[in-house]
Amino acid sequence: MIDKIDHIGIAVHSIAEKTPLYRDVLGLAFEGEEVIEEQGVRVAFFRVGEAMIELLEPLDKSGPVARFLERHGEGIHHLALGCPDIDEGRSRVEAAGIRLLSDKPLDGAHSKLISFLHPKDTGKVLLELTQRNENSEKAT
Ligand code: ZN
Repeated sequence: MIDKIDHIGIAVHSIAEKTPLYRDVLGLAFEGEEVIEEQGVRVAFFRVGEAMIELLEPLDKSGPVARFLERHGEGIHHLALGCPDIDEGRSRVEAAGIRLLSDKPLDGAHSKLISFLHPKDTGKVLLELTQRNENSEKAT
């Protein structure tokens, strides 16, 4: 079901402050910035081969990423696994007794459908399932 690491999410206080590290020092291609109101974040993507690094900056003090920064400071926030069918992915996870953080898939960046697994059921790793969007990305 899962066939790649789609991206690694990193919580930051400021995307603008961290962009020179990923783009200029590490030389990764900047793949655009996007505001996802539903999750209270601005995100920026940098390509690393088939995968991406996603920087997450909170829009205000109340969202989940803001709370993460308050508790842990900046650092790795989640690991996103790409799958062709998010409904199938959700069913498999739920059948195994692992809780999902939303009743249905959410809208993620790049118009992808995403779902988070409850970190208490995954050994404290926040895992995200991401469904490939065949319209905006070549199938691999
Ligand atoms: Zn993500």
